[in-house]
Amino acid sequence: KVHVDKVNKSYGDNHVLRDISLDVMANEVVVMIGPSGSGKSTFLRMLNQLEMPNSGLVEVDGYDISDPKTDINKVRENIGMVFQNFNLFNNYTVLQNITLAPVQLGKMTKEEADKRGKELLATVGLSDKADKSVNSLSGGQKQRVAIARALAMDPDIMLFDEPTSALDPEMVGDVLDVMKDLAKSGMTMIIVTHEMGFAKQVADRVVFFESGKIQESGTPEEVFNAPKNERLQTFLSKVM
Ligand code: ATP
Ligand code: MG
Repeated sequence: KVHVDKVNKSYGDNHVLRDISLDVMANEVVVMIGPSGSGKSTFLRMLNQLEMPNSGLVEVDGYDISDPKTDINKVRENIGMVFQNFNLFNNYTVLQNITLAPVQLGKMTKEEADKRGKELLATVGLSDKADKSVNSLSGGQKQRVAIARALAMDPDIMLFDEPTSALDPEMVGDVLDVMKDLAKSGMTMIIVTHEMGFAKQVADRVVFFESGKIQESGTPEEVFNAPKNERLQTFLSKVM
């Protein structure tokens, strides 16, 4: 599904990703943890070509997206991405936010998209919000709409970059519950988060980024209960 081999990325003389290799299989849930500035977002953004690596290979669904000649729009249709700050269209209704892309890209008719959009709103617990303006929603509700919007394209892979970091604490649980359901449904997910309880519960594999390197990876039990890397031990002692 996702195959990353010896990727390097620099901004000027800031060497942000150093020889990173990672494979993610279909149906796998990988959670990435690590300190601020360690390269987690850069790595995630590289998986849908929001960033280009300076060297190394990035393959998604068999497409080499480290090759600028690859039709990235085709690949992106199969990759849903959810950001910290929702990135919704604020002057559209909730349902319009969800139906816009599949209709514009010719994946569905308006009627099909509306039907699917309403189903997705039900799965994220927002059936009653379809015709409301996005501005009238809470942060947690906006993030659930953002997840529904990404799912409307029927992606193979979902990427999440700190989806709950901008939320008031009482909103976090609802968003994590939606993500847990998605994981149970077999979605392939790569998630950057500081929610360690969630990571323990949902991750098949936890990957620890530090200084642009994967310093350790393993099952939640291995990473949280028996960390080997000294930097990981230090990191966990600060966040747990
Ligand atoms: P956080 O937990 O704070 O989100 P992160 O692990 O996601 O951190 P990145 O956002 O990937 O870290 O940033 C890694 C490094 O790359 C940082 O030093 C950052 O300043 C730098 N960086 C990221 N994006 C750019 C950019 N567009 N231009 C220049 N430098 C960048
Ligand atoms: Mg980040």
